[in-house]
Amino acid sequence: MDGCIFCKIGKREIESMVVYEDKDVIVFRDINPQAPVHILVIPKKHVAGLNDITADDQMLAGKLILVAQKVARQEKISESGYRLVINSGEDAGQAVQHLHVHLLGGRRMKWPPG
Ligand code: AMP
Repeated sequence: MDGCIFCKIGKREIESMVVYEDKDVIVFRDINPQAPVHILVIPKKHVAGLNDITADDQMLAGKLILVAQKVARQEKISESGYRLVINSGEDAGQAVQHLHVHLLGGRRMKWPPG
C-alpha cells in the first residue's frame, strides 16, 4: 500500500535489519527495541491489522507464528522464553497500520503488560 512504511520494508525500499525473509513474510529488528531481542514479523502483503485479517489470510496468519518460533530459535531465546505481541487499535498502542507480530525476549517480562 502506498505510503505504508512496513510495505516499503517488505519491498526493500527502506533499509532495515532483516533476520529472515521468504515469499510471504519479512522479519526485521525493531528500530526502538524494548528488550535485548525485539523483532517484528510482518506479512509482505498489506493487512492493516488484526481486525483486517480474513479467512483467506488463515495460512498467512498461522505462518507469522511459525516464523516467529523459527526466529526465536535462531535468536537462541526459545528455551529462556519469549513473548509474541500484536497490538490492535488505539488502546493497545498500535502505531503502524500494517499487521506485525512483536517477538520480544532476552529478559524477564512482567505480567500484566502495561
Ligand atoms: P506498534 O506500536 O505495535 O504499532 O509497533 C510498531 C513498532 O514498529 C514499534 O515498536 C516501532 O519501534 C517499530 N518501527 C517503526 N518504524 C520502524 C522501522 N523503520 N524499522 C523497524 N522498526 C520500526
